[in-house]
Amino acid sequence: MADLLTDIREFLRRERDLFGEALIVDLPGQPKEAAMPRRKPPAVEEPVLFNLPEQPAKPITVEPWGSATSLEDLNVQICTCMKCPLGSTRTNFVFGVGSPHATMMVVGEAPGADEDAQGEPFVGRAGQLLNKILEAIQFKREEVYICNILKCRPPGNRKPALEEVNHCLPYLRKQIALVRPKLILCLGLTAAENLLGTTESLGSLRGRVLEYDGIPLMVTYHPAALLRNPAWKRPTWEDVQAARKLHDDLVAQASP
Ligand code: URA
Repeated sequence: MADLLTDIREFLRRERDLFGEALIVDLPGQPKEAAMPRRKPPAVEEPVLFNLPEQPAKPITVEPWGSATSLEDLNVQICTCMKCPLGSTRTNFVFGVGSPHATMMVVGEAPGADEDAQGEPFVGRAGQLLNKILEAIQFKREEVYICNILKCRPPGNRKPALEEVNHCLPYLRKQIALVRPKLILCLGLTAAENLLGTTESLGSLRGRVLEYDGIPLMVTYHPAALLRNPAWKRPTWEDVQAARKLHDDLVAQASP
């Protein structure tokens, strides 16, 4: 009997060390604290999330806009682009919007009708939803930088063609090089597959911390997809909360 009581006490002590007071029942005949003195939790060291080596900047292009030193300068140099057929069907070149010092960059696919009309990314229905998503993780729209894989609207909002992406992606790469955000959040597979150069599915890319040019990158559903399928709102909420947490850790790590 005495052995059994000793075993029970030892079991409960281990349970309390693992789970805290909530699962503990009082041991008969023993004052609470004396019966089970608390073990101090071991000091946990702050994990170093990213110790990325400094990489020498790779030249994006030998074209003059490659040496732009600000987003404004870059926009002025590329906004008359006619490298692909979308140049002649667009109303406006949709460069990007937000803080040039943003610590988070949000990348979508391509302008839609509203964006083409107004010259600003994510201003239509998907944009309204993106604003709500950002608000939910305590970001103001103007605090982040928002842009797309393509700067011009594909007619009928079709998926960007390879030729269009090949011409336009270097512009985005230059924008990223100028902003150097701490985290890139890709909205949808088009953004992710083109920035990462991968053919993996959205399902396999979500929930992971990937990397573009030394910058941590996360992927979630495109807001337009959420409008079509509200069941994806919950996983998106989980993704963006994880992105916000990682973003804050990265910012804190950069300025201790
Ligand atoms: N969808 C996008 O991917 N980008 C926009 O700017 C608007 C809708």
